[in-house]
Amino acid sequence: MIDFHCHLDLYPDPHGVTNACAERRLYVLSVTTTPSAFAGTLALANGASRIRTALGLHPQLAHQRKGELPLFDRLVGETRYVGEIGLDGAPEFKRHWDDQMEVFTHILDVCRVSGGRVLSLHSRRATKAVLDALETRPGVGLPILHWFSGSARELARAVELGCWFSVGPGMLRGEKGRELATRMPRERVLTESDGPFAQIDGRSAWPWEASSAAGVLGQIWGQSLPDVERQLSANLARLGEFAQPKPACAQLG
Ligand code: MN
Repeated sequence: MIDFHCHLDLYPDPHGVTNACAERRLYVLSVTTTPSAFAGTLALANGASRIRTALGLHPQLAHQRKGELPLFDRLVGETRYVGEIGLDGAPEFKRHWDDQMEVFTHILDVCRVSGGRVLSLHSRRATKAVLDALETRPGVGLPILHWFSGSARELARAVELGCWFSVGPGMLRGEKGRELATRMPRERVLTESDGPFAQIDGRSAWPWEASSAAGVLGQIWGQSLPDVERQLSANLARLGEFAQPKPACAQLG
């Protein structure tokens, strides 16, 4: 099973949860929120062949951590995964919009000149701005919109731009999220937990609970769970060499 957006380093016991993921043979994209967290989070997954670590700078931290962009630039050659990055248009973060744009567009440009990356993108209340930024920067790699919450029209635009989607139990709990997932191209969907931020029954979601999203996808797509799991595995495989130590970034579409 697959958790393609998880903050392993932010659980109270990062080593314990990482080991549990490895024991369960879970494929994990372990995203980070600051460049300074990358080295420690990469070390967490040391020896876990199904866990990949992404280099990120979360939009909610952009105004505080934009001074870490030079560190981002130095580290970007060490991974083909970038995230969590993006934009957040919620009222409490909108006042830092200029910093968010500076950080996000800088990172997209760095990805582009570095040959492209697999990107895990935050777009809460900012779908249009995220898609505008992607549209004007072909060659950033493969954008994967995590917990997509835009409109059906924006979803169609994202699909047109080549975006993929990672969906979790939180997103699929609501009618709107399920309606959006119905419209997503099945060959471009992965599951995620967004733990420990995302909640299930009032506590943090565990990475392996991303699998419950596969069950919901089966219901709304009218497919059996094994069929959905086969689809998701095939999608992950198309990302290319997830289990290889140093895959070629040139394969990104
Ligand atoms: Mn997240």
